[in-house]
Amino acid sequence: AAKQTGEPYRAWSAELDERAGEHARLGAELRAALDAGQFQVVYQPIVRLPERRVTAVEALVRWQHPQRGMVSPAAFIPVAEQNGLIVELGAWILHTACRRMADWRAELGALAPDRVSVNVSARQLARADFPATVAAALATTGLPARCLTIEVTETAVFGGGQALTSLHELRALGVRIALDDFGTGHSSLGLLQTVPVDVLKVDKSFVDNITEAGRHTVIARALIQVSEGLGLTAVAEGVETAEQATALYELGYRLLQGYYFGKPTAEPRFEVDFIHAG
Ligand code: C2E
Ligand code: CA
Ligand code: CA
Ligand code: CA
Repeated sequence: AAKQTGEPYRAWSAELDERAGEHARLGAELRAALDAGQFQVVYQPIVRLPERRVTAVEALVRWQHPQRGMVSPAAFIPVAEQNGLIVELGAWILHTACRRMADWRAELGALAPDRVSVNVSARQLARADFPATVAAALATTGLPARCLTIEVTETAVFGGGQALTSLHELRALGVRIALDDFGTGHSSLGLLQTVPVDVLKVDKSFVDNITEAGRHTVIARALIQVSEGLGLTAVAEGVETAEQATALYELGYRLLQGYYFGKPTAEPRFEVDFIHAG
């Protein structure tokens, strides 16, 4: 019996080593990847119902790795956060997204989305120079501050401190703040008392079973009410079906994002197509 208990432990520990090795390998490659231009920014539409106008796009980073193919940001963003490269990578993403948005405004006029939303990690937000990085991206691209939304997670701002100071400075620039994955972190509602925020992004987990009239629906309804009561904008994330879009619309959601409306892509389409929900 003693022999048998030894086996799983060894297997588990070997797997940990492998994961740690993988982590270190990825970390070392990220630096080179940034220099080699292997990162790309793709854009997912955020649409307003009922007219389905693309009012905003969320910028999402991609890594086109020469051997591994497309690497998910869920795999490399945590590594970049840990080794600090996220600061430089994040500044590149911010600049790329602002320049793209400025180009769309120049090329498309009224068909251009109103704003671009950029994800920012806790480590970026915790730096005192982060607002200056944002201001520089706006200045070099000529993008008006009102055309930029910064997406932060509840966890990134939970501790207050410099992160909170950064948010106030961004707000003073005229940039919007969105709380991402809302409802999945700690202390969600309490944060709304102290954190300057304009947009609540209601997490996909509340959208997934929205058509089943269970507890997800109750929470999604409560979140749109909180959002309206506080004068915030709510965006429902991860909408995959027409039925989900209709259910959300009936709850009062007007801004929706998800594969149903469009996957993240390098060349999003912005045509207004006037298809009503439901
Ligand atoms: P997130 O900010 O919550 O982004 C939404 C994620 O959900 C994206 O995954 C998007 O492709 C995916 N998604 C959108 N609609 C649907 C849908 O209808 N169904 C499903 N199943 N998924 C949907 P992605 O691009 O793989 O990004 C994963 C996470 O990586 C992001 O979650 C964000 O936390 C992080 N991330 C991505 N890009 C950046 C970035 O530029 N900077 C930072 N700091 N983090 C990023
Ligand atoms: Ca996001
Ligand atoms: Ca999210
Ligand atoms: Ca997420």
